[in-house]
Amino acid sequence: MKIKFPNYKDGLHHFDFETDVEELGLKEKFVGNVLLNCMMDKSSTQIVINCNLLIKAKFACDRCMAEFEKDIKTDFRLIFFITHSRSNGEESESGIYYLSPDEDTIDLTNDTVENILLTLPMKILCDENCKGLCYVCGVNKNETECSCEVETSNPVWDKLLKLKK
Ligand SMILES: [Zn+2]
Ligand SMILES: [Zn+2]
Repeated sequence: MKIKFPNYKDGLHHFDFETDVEELGLKEKFVGNVLLNCMMDKSSTQIVINCNLLIKAKFACDRCMAEFEKDIKTDFRLIFFITHSRSNGEESESGIYYLSPDEDTIDLTNDTVENILLTLPMKILCDENCKGLCYVCGVNKNETECSCEVETSNPVWDKLLKLKK
């Protein structure tokens, strides 16, 4: 995921990268290849790179524990200023870098990995309406209906039931 930017004229240039998740050290939650699709806008003093990223994630649902795969898309922007006044590769803010004029390579790998990790949701559900596992017998209620009496000690229901009686 490297760009030898001096090889390119000022203006827009398109890059595609495809890298195995294992090469990025991401094999635990992800499978297959990361597809990175970038547009570099180069001038003599700065380089702006906009990237779209596609990766397949492998999750276990927080409710029913089922494993499932999901495509994750994200995008990010990196800005590189070419200047004498900063040391090599120093990062000030996220996504903003300074390159000294004698550098010739931009490596997108670290930012790609960071942005992939940012896409991981806090709560992982196979489906918004996942019914989860039965608390009594443990079956996956998305797949099987069980006949367990679910003891709903929900006070709202208790009140309604009393009213009904
Ligand atoms: Zn689920
Ligand atoms: Zn059950």
